[in-house]
Amino acid sequence: MKICPNCRAEYEDTINVCADCEVELISSEDFKLLEENYIDWEVVYTTPELYEAEMVKTNLESANIDCVILDQKDSSFPLGGEMGVLKVLVRKSDFEEALQIIKNSSNPEIESNDASHGEQ
Ligand SMILES: [Zn+2]
Repeated sequence: MKICPNCRAEYEDTINVCADCEVELISSEDFKLLEENYIDWEVVYTTPELYEAEMVKTNLESANIDCVILDQKDSSFPLGGEMGVLKVLVRKSDFEEALQIIKNSSNPEIESNDASHGEQ
């Protein structure tokens, strides 16, 4: 049996692509493994731009936070989502910290505006 990682529909082994999502199907064994491996992970950032996702990943890794970039085009992942959107995932235990790091690093303009308002 095969499963669509996007909508979780079940298919015969002879079918390779989900009729609804046009996503490549994975075996039910792989699906279970993926689910177990990623159940503790949470999406902390989404972007259509690979360089942006990689920037976020670099920032998180320099703070010793494990993270993975998921590409819907890879398709072998049981989280639903929009096509062409990259997701950066971190462990749930690192989520808050990761969010802060991303906030602090990805919007330098907003940050400097805030700082100048706050200064007296
Ligand atoms: Zn599907």
